[in-house]
Amino acid sequence: MDITKHINSAHKAFKDWKIVPFQERQKLLLKLAKVLEKNKEQYAETITREMHKPITQSLAEIEKSAGMIKYYAEAENVLKPENIKTEYDVSEVHYDPMGIILGVMPWNFPFWQVLRFAIPTILAGNVVVLKHASICFESGDEIENAFSEAGFPKNIFQNLRIGHNEIQEILENPLVRGVSLTGSEKAGGTVAALAGKNIKKSVLELGGSDAFIVLEDSDFEKAAKEGPWAKLQNTGQICNAAKRFIIHKKIEKEFVPKFIEEYRSYQPADPMKKETRLGKMARPDLADDLENQYKKALKNGAEVVVPLERISENEFRPGIILVEEGNPILQEELFGPLAMLMIGKDDEHILKLANDIPFGLGNAVWTKDKKRAQFFIDNLQSGTVSINKATSSDTRLPFGGAKSSGYGVELSLHALKEFTQVKTVVGN
Ligand code: NDP
Repeated sequence: MDITKHINSAHKAFKDWKIVPFQERQKLLLKLAKVLEKNKEQYAETITREMHKPITQSLAEIEKSAGMIKYYAEAENVLKPENIKTEYDVSEVHYDPMGIILGVMPWNFPFWQVLRFAIPTILAGNVVVLKHASICFESGDEIENAFSEAGFPKNIFQNLRIGHNEIQEILENPLVRGVSLTGSEKAGGTVAALAGKNIKKSVLELGGSDAFIVLEDSDFEKAAKEGPWAKLQNTGQICNAAKRFIIHKKIEKEFVPKFIEEYRSYQPADPMKKETRLGKMARPDLADDLENQYKKALKNGAEVVVPLERISENEFRPGIILVEEGNPILQEELFGPLAMLMIGKDDEHILKLANDIPFGLGNAVWTKDKKRAQFFIDNLQSGTVSINKATSSDTRLPFGGAKSSGYGVELSLHALKEFTQVKTVVGN
């Protein structure tokens, strides 16, 4: 593929797009949301065919994406010049678009992840080139076509069907001004290093191993019902899924059987069928990785609560393991239908267990006691803390990670500023 040609056409598009007023850009976004709603069945089928998510969850992904686009189509223009009081006649802060921004995106939410990054970036006046996960090129093409169908000018959004080795050439091109990557730590570290070497802005949204903390004073029946969904949605392949269930020892005997019963109700089936709640993993090599992690955890002392059973090259009956402090598996992300259960003695111990990992995306705490909730809000090391609910992203609220889960902000009005150049204008 002639990458330079694509970048030059993106740059040409940028020169016109950056002077289109914010409200005019928003009108096109509204049309894009309608295109998504109109074609949602078709897009959902593409998602499920490419990465095997249950079809109802693919539909929900498109609906959530359309809702997010509408939010930005109606959002306040926070990029208007801001006046600052000084002794000068003019002193203002401007937010200029940067230019071409590269998105390196994963397969787990083939539409949502791409659009979550692209929409605020484009609304801010930038243009986007996408390097999608290799198993999701068709989703990438459909997103590009959706932009055309909505009437966006040509080359505002381009899907490049390239391998990850070609990212270097893109980031070395001086017309490309930044990159946003969602994916593994390895891919994130590599791409951020390339961006740094070329002095370009990067935003990283990487893995997580979030805690789902259940204290003895909570509505733990509700937590036991919601916990399995928080883990097994999208076949356990979500960065901010609940991955470690940390339970106060006082309710271990009551909570765990309820949790297991609900957990076992998720069994793999044909992802194209509407009633299916658990699909297949995206690729057989990812299933191999999960199986190896399971063996590694057991070798290091974890106990089987519900066995992880592989029933085809990329399908499992979901498993649960009981893990204690010090098990090296805790340093890794389990991206699939395998949950970790941990038992905590008291709030201090539970907090220590929750924080003692490299990641920090979206921990959840279940308690009716506001003081105890506040203790966790103040001390959990993560981009989000959810109280009495499972963590999930919400378009209106910022989304991002702490520690090895990445940096930068997505969603909300904050995301509009991520790929802008702050320009100070001052004088008489
Ligand atoms: P990757 O991180 O490898 O893939 C995500 C994106 O990065 C894809 O577009 C991929 O392209 C690209 N990429 C891969 N390797 C590199 C590299 N060395 N340099 C630059 N770009 C790269 O995810 P995997 O599919 O391999 O999944 C591995 C693990 O990553 C999962 O088990 C999970 O732990 C984590 N992950 C986290 C996600 C999240 O939402 N935070 C999403 C997906 C995975 P290509 O497909 O061409 O390799």
